[in-house]
Amino acid sequence: MQETFLVRLPKGDDLLEAITRVFQEKGMRKAAFQVIGAVDRAVLAFYDTVERQYKSRDFPEPLEIVACLGNVSEKDGEIFVHAHATLAGEDFRCVGGHLMPGTPIFAAELYAAPVPGEVPVRRFDEPTGLALWSWD
Ligand code: ZN
Repeated sequence: MQETFLVRLPKGDDLLEAITRVFQEKGMRKAAFQVIGAVDRAVLAFYDTVERQYKSRDFPEPLEIVACLGNVSEKDGEIFVHAHATLAGEDFRCVGGHLMPGTPIFAAELYAAPVPGEVPVRRFDEPTGLALWSWD
């Protein structure tokens, strides 16, 4: 079984892309991770369960990454990272949501734990409109 690991993600890189690249470079298709640090700005999304679409919002100010949690699986044959983030501004209030591209890293520390066993594959799920895990 592979060991857990720590990685410092590069300043200026997009947070979601940088996380994805770590797992691509390790060829790791099933894992859980967490990130703490700070970003220069952020884009988060909310999944509208009635309209069945993501609605994103830009937060154009420096924010602490209070907690960014996620997992790694497979979608369309590629390594796919799903991450959510809780971010705090200068007023210490938090915003949170589904992490989107457009979130440049100021500093970020990733802790990741590979998960053994069969890799879940994301497939379209009609009841939710989302690409959810399937093992069949
Ligand atoms: Zn999500």
